[in-house]
Amino acid sequence: MNIILFGPPGVGKGTQGITLANEIDIVHIAMGDLLRAAVKNRTALGQEAQSYMDAGKLVPDTLVIGLIEERITCVDAAKGFLLDGFPRNVAQALALDEMLAKHAMLIDRVIFLDAADSLLLERLGGRLICKACGFGFHRHYSPPREAGLCDQCGGELYQRDDDKEDVIAHRLEIYKEQTQPLLQFYSTLDAFHQVDASGDIKSVYQLILDKVQ
Ligand code: AMP
Repeated sequence: MNIILFGPPGVGKGTQGITLANEIDIVHIAMGDLLRAAVKNRTALGQEAQSYMDAGKLVPDTLVIGLIEERITCVDAAKGFLLDGFPRNVAQALALDEMLAKHAMLIDRVIFLDAADSLLLERLGGRLICKACGFGFHRHYSPPREAGLCDQCGGELYQRDDDKEDVIAHRLEIYKEQTQPLLQFYSTLDAFHQVDASGDIKSVYQLILDKVQ
């Protein structure tokens, strides 16, 4: 099964995407993680992407489209993949359609997660991410069992630079301008499902699972 999970920053794409991909045994592909790895490894692409990411802007399409094509055509993705954070605008969605046709692949579900801005701001402001596996926690709503350490793998938790208040506001603006139009692009497909992601992690996960099964 191939799935696209999309929605505003802070809605829970990473948290839900990792759990769902593990449960149905497909590969979780998060564009943000691919880009952060490129920045960390100081690749040419990473160096170009960094200033956009620090400012909460979208990295240019030419960079992310190449990266995603490379990743979905890796051997491990043949069993199925969940895209988290790609596509993030209509040009990327069109490029993805082309890429899928070229590799004879299909998308089985497009799941749109939605929540109110006030909730997104609260979630992003308290978010902690595992450096090793990318799993997300929240200082108040879902704290790790041991402070600073990931429950899943024991990795170190950190706050992303772009989860600081001024950058968060900008990321939400960019989302509205560029990513929200994807709703129109996907909502007429049979594969499209909208999920209210304002509940707790477990109940939102159940809603997503209902759409996948
Ligand atoms: P995320 O981890 O999904 O919140 O993404 C972190 C940052 O990576 C975003 O704020 C963008 O700067 C960049 N990014 C992630 N996905 C994309 C994409 N599909 N297109 C352009 N930039 C992206």
